[in-house]
Amino acid sequence: MKWEENVRRVVPYTAGEQPGRKDVIKLNTNESPYPPAPGVARRMRELETERMRLYPAFPEQTGLAASLAAYYGISTDRIFIGNGSDDVLSLAFLTFFQSGRPILFPDITYSFYPVWADLYRVPYRCMPLCNDFSIRKEDYIPAESGIHNGGVIFPNPNAPTGVLMPLDAIEDIVAANSGVVVIVDEAYVDFGGTSCLPLIDKYDNLLVVQTFSKSRSMAGMRIGYAMGSPMLIKYLNDVKYSVNSYTMNYTALELGAAAAADTGYFKECCSRIVRTRECAEKELGRLGFTFPKSYGNFIFASHERVPAKEIFEKLKENDIYVRYWDKERIDNYLRITIGTDEQMEALYHTLEKITG
Ligand SMILES: *Cc1c(COP(=O)(O)O)cnc(C)c1O
Repeated sequence: MKWEENVRRVVPYTAGEQPGRKDVIKLNTNESPYPPAPGVARRMRELETERMRLYPAFPEQTGLAASLAAYYGISTDRIFIGNGSDDVLSLAFLTFFQSGRPILFPDITYSFYPVWADLYRVPYRCMPLCNDFSIRKEDYIPAESGIHNGGVIFPNPNAPTGVLMPLDAIEDIVAANSGVVVIVDEAYVDFGGTSCLPLIDKYDNLLVVQTFSKSRSMAGMRIGYAMGSPMLIKYLNDVKYSVNSYTMNYTALELGAAAAADTGYFKECCSRIVRTRECAEKELGRLGFTFPKSYGNFIFASHERVPAKEIFEKLKENDIYVRYWDKERIDNYLRITIGTDEQMEALYHTLEKITG
């Protein structure tokens, strides 16, 4: 068809499988195994359908923004809230990566980055991780790599490896790239990592992105946010309000505020997941798996004998879903989300049969 020449064509991101049945053990998309804070259910019962007649509030003026600002000890003009961090990251690509020079991210990382880069025609270069899956800091420092980049983005801890970059290395990257925006995607930072948020006071080119999808048990509500200098947030809002004035619905704003208000429950869920992850390291080690030390709510593991693809398929036959990528360098690894202790026991039991 002739008109096809004029279409913006992209290869979309492939998300983890969402099995229709509920009676499976779902450890494939890094959701929390725990429900949202109890205040969320209470607030949900109070929501007024009459209110839905009206357009939703502007996120930066809501209780959600106020709660996040109070939790992080920053002002609301340093927070941008969007429809999941995928929405926030997508807008950040559109807003900040305009130089025409290649942006940099690791070769093994969140596979949405190349999709947004392609969608927005942002050139990019993938920098190979070291063999231990750590990010090579020097690759992102122009004076050392010789690459005149148009921006930098990486998750910390990285996904799907779980490997954490120390704060001083992040600061070196941000400081060495003052002419471009550096985005640190902290989707998993609440599971024992150190956030680089304090650096936003010192560096106005640093954008820190977080989400309610993993550590706050609300993937289905689609709430994500970015924190940075008031200038960065203003530019992000200018683009957002040029695309869609209302990306977040009334329900998400109200229930997100209820979740953000309960920091005790949030911290308790995170530490339970960290405890289960520590048990999982022992159990998976005993079963013959190796993995880098993870700071996320998942473990990226490879078996000493049985190929990952085979384990993936056999787990699925047993109604246990984990994530597998048939991709260079990582095709013998499984990313296993940390579930409840009971779900993990069922996993070890099944793995014992598969690998034994
Ligand atoms: C899960 C994830 C996101 C996206 O989360 P949302 O559900 O869109 O908030 C972003 N970055 C990384 C690295 C993730 O793993």
